[in-house]
Amino acid sequence: MSSTTTNASLFERAQRRIPGGVNSPVRAFRSVGGTPYFVSRGEGAYVWDVEGRRYLDYVQSYGASILGHAHPAVVEAVRAAAGRGTTYGAPTEGEVRLAEELCARVPGLEMVRLVSSGTEATMSALRLARGATGRSKIVKFAGCYHGHSDALLAGGGSGVADQGLADSAGVTAGAVADTVVAPYNRVPALDRDVAVVMVEPVAANMGLVPPAPGFLEGLRAACDRVGALLCFDEVITGFRVGPGGASRRFGVLPDLWCFGKVIGGGLPLGAFGGREAVMEQLAPLGPVYQAGTLSGNPLATAAGLAVLAELDDAAYAMLDGRASELAGMLGDVMVDADLPVQVPRLGPLLGLHFSDAPVTDYDEARAAAETGIYRRFFGAMLERGVAIAPGPFEAMFPSLAHGHDDLERTADLAAAAAADVQRLLAPGAARS
Ligand SMILES: *Cc1c(COP(=O)(O)O)cnc(C)c1O
Repeated sequence: MSSTTTNASLFERAQRRIPGGVNSPVRAFRSVGGTPYFVSRGEGAYVWDVEGRRYLDYVQSYGASILGHAHPAVVEAVRAAAGRGTTYGAPTEGEVRLAEELCARVPGLEMVRLVSSGTEATMSALRLARGATGRSKIVKFAGCYHGHSDALLAGGGSGVADQGLADSAGVTAGAVADTVVAPYNRVPALDRDVAVVMVEPVAANMGLVPPAPGFLEGLRAACDRVGALLCFDEVITGFRVGPGGASRRFGVLPDLWCFGKVIGGGLPLGAFGGREAVMEQLAPLGPVYQAGTLSGNPLATAAGLAVLAELDDAAYAMLDGRASELAGMLGDVMVDADLPVQVPRLGPLLGLHFSDAPVTDYDEARAAAETGIYRRFFGAMLERGVAIAPGPFEAMFPSLAHGHDDLERTADLAAAAAADVQRLLAPGAARS
């Protein structure tokens, strides 16, 4: 990094060699406008850009950094693991310990396989469900994001929604012919061709949309009626909304789980798992093939174990309390600025919809995004050194490193930002 390196100059260079200048689309700021900040380092609740500007960070790698950035326990675990070699192509004790730790925390989870991303977890769970049931059809919900594999992109939230793409080019009709997209929070009618119903038990990729009372129980019953498997994509909710994730929190037992983000402590790691009878369909025990050169690699498992070791009941209580405080303050600030707002919260997860009424599905989430308020609020916050996700369809991720003072600062800056937004929206103000 030279003294003349700026976000703008890096973005210009990036765009020459990396499509859109980014390696994951939502980072490009297309839905909020402006130039992305290029991060040079992070510590706790903060990141610094290459120009030396500090941001109070609520992105936290979309939930991958639940302890905050560069937590000493994670740094030390990764440093120590790196010194022993980063990958061997042979099994390690760390994989066994992480698998045991995941299963110990999630009731009903009997076996897991480790992979390197959430996308791999969902893609593999899907293949496993199809292999185990001998059926083809899958049901997913509009606005839920399950990674970028072909069959699961249809009706996707998160970056897919940000880009305004209904689906993606390059996905053949054949690849999605067996994908049925249903509205979130309504139990769809299933038939006996359905292999699996895949759902985010708390949707966190269309902003935060909690499950309506009875929705998850209804899915369980509907799957049981036709012999379909139920898969909870807990890549965001797993080990965040509580020690056992959403399944434990809501007391609804799926057949399959997908994990990612939190369990890798900021390194590439995902997992899918379920009951032994289903998981034993995987190679080398069964006929469903699935593999990975870097699966369960020693750095990622070391980081994951270090993170989970910090996540005891006291940590979740603290995360819960901070999210609750933040949600209350953000709600008050918006009301004071006369902006329509919903701040849904589920434990440590919260969302921000600029809407008069609670958001229960993707259509409502999109309507809230289309007010353009999020985009303006994002810009007004970034200007003040607070980073929220550069798109209206993401959740907010306060970490264990976000202290009370950080939240109070957020509230003060959010009040000023909200007032700016209100001025911009006032009749006669220039629309940007
Ligand atoms: C982030 C996410 C994924 C994809 O995980 P990657 O690690 O980005 O591949 C899948 N499902 C959900 C619910 C996610 O939030």
